[in-house]
Amino acid sequence: MISFYGITGRRNVFAVGAVRAYRTQSRRPSVAWIPLSMLFASSQLAAQELEPGYLDPWPILHAAADAIGTDNLRCVTIFGTGYAGAVGQQTLNDKNVDWPRIDPLDNYTRTMNWEAGTMLESFERPPGNNPSSWKYGQGWLGGTPVQQDSRQFFMVNGDYAWHQDGEDGAPVAAPPRDAALWQLDMWINPHGFIKAARIPGAYPRASWRWELGEMGRDGPTTMPEKMTVVSIMIAGKYRVDATINKESMLQRIHTWVPDPVLGDFNYEHEFTNASYINIGDGIRFPTGWHSHQGWDDNYQAQNINAGHNSFGGTFDQIQANECPDPVTVPNSVREADFSANVESNEIADGIYLIGGTSHNSVAVEFEDFVAVVEAPIDEARSLVVIEEVVRLAPGKPIRFLVNTHQHHDHIGGLRTYMHIGATIITHRLNYPFYTRDVLNYDQRTLEPDMVSMWPPTELAEGYFYEQVTENYIVSDGERNMNIYYVHPLDHVQGMLMAYLPDEEIVIEADLFDTHVPPPASPSNAHINFYNTVRRLGLEVGTIVPIHGSPAPWSDLVELVGDAGAE
Ligand SMILES: [Zn+2]
Ligand SMILES: [Zn+2]
Repeated sequence: MISFYGITGRRNVFAVGAVRAYRTQSRRPSVAWIPLSMLFASSQLAAQELEPGYLDPWPILHAAADAIGTDNLRCVTIFGTGYAGAVGQQTLNDKNVDWPRIDPLDNYTRTMNWEAGTMLESFERPPGNNPSSWKYGQGWLGGTPVQQDSRQFFMVNGDYAWHQDGEDGAPVAAPPRDAALWQLDMWINPHGFIKAARIPGAYPRASWRWELGEMGRDGPTTMPEKMTVVSIMIAGKYRVDATINKESMLQRIHTWVPDPVLGDFNYEHEFTNASYINIGDGIRFPTGWHSHQGWDDNYQAQNINAGHNSFGGTFDQIQANECPDPVTVPNSVREADFSANVESNEIADGIYLIGGTSHNSVAVEFEDFVAVVEAPIDEARSLVVIEEVVRLAPGKPIRFLVNTHQHHDHIGGLRTYMHIGATIITHRLNYPFYTRDVLNYDQRTLEPDMVSMWPPTELAEGYFYEQVTENYIVSDGERNMNIYYVHPLDHVQGMLMAYLPDEEIVIEADLFDTHVPPPASPSNAHINFYNTVRRLGLEVGTIVPIHGSPAPWSDLVELVGDAGAE
């Protein structure tokens, strides 16, 4: 009798030999001992072993490779004009509101070299409006250097990724989360997917379904088309599926990626049959790219978050197999350190500016509790800030977290503060988005956070929220912190600022940044921030920004000049 130490709990025809070979070595449950060669050799067996609903993936993949000539394509360079959606920078989550498109990507070019494991993207974009670290889609990080040169470069080599602002810009290492995404982008396209399916560990599986067109776009359809779906693993982490039609053309390649705000986050590229062109040697390549980040759900049937279109364009100049490979990893990128850095400063009695990265938090100490303004970036950032608050004000719980606005780089730590029991003070316009999409019980499998792993029982019913309409006061009877609604703004709806009357300090996000020199003329945000303070009759000596160092109120007065009210 063969005894199974494995976790399958049932006879596995592929594993029998392996169990014999290994039983003397290990008594621990494991599935890793299934030899890869046996899995790959299984395609002939598979037809009779497959469960209902499943198909043998290999004939589907072979036909798809033949249809587009994947075996003749070693690397590719594409060129054209694209667009970029700023994921997480929406003015409001509402029906039919998309990620904002700030500037087009002109003279976009991308070289993908699957053999070398490298990708180079480059484009032109007007300077001044975007972080230089931001390519398109996810990864927007306020408070970081703003793009200076019109020509931008983004590179990946294996696990390393970096950007360069202009031809002569110094290479700047991308944080691990961005590096993983950019690497994934090299594989989430038709040829890349087929090549990835052949890498050991991809474990392709296939299924089928009937598909109808999209409501409001394709017109009424009564007869669906039968499609196959092949699913593979990439990098041992991402389950990626491709929808393949009856002509064996890949139309949609889809996966999930981790996002600090939204958890397992929908991520997909689509290509229509009509957009493939013949580039010789039996190779066909799509010229129309269309990408979603977040669900393509205009009607908020499934979620409140509105945005979806994150990248796309027409890239119709395509060159096969001529890929100069300049993508050598610079030493500075290899050695980059992304460990969390905390610097705290007591800027007034019991008021601490906690910085050390792109976004500050401000801790305000009350008689027997602490209120923190802003939970930016992600859980790792929030945990080091929380530990610092505990050190600065020992024995006092963080009772409140004041959230300025709903841009994703400002809310990546909300779940962490919820985990430690803080009540979140936010504008009421943000409440539906937070409760449905962000602060929920949904499983997060790619990067589980603390709420996902250990949810409290009262996530939906506990005292976790104060919704502010116009103003709100946090007080212990001695110290007051007033919280006010700031509007109207082009930047976002549902913006709050905090005001400490005794210290004449106002704490704000994105209304007056000081990590960059002031612009030549005031923005809509500068003017409306100034007008709000004037309308409320507040005495302000110091502005404490989430991005940058504290600055005197007179700096804003000087910038706004005659543009402010009376
Ligand atoms: Zn910001
Ligand atoms: Zn913002």
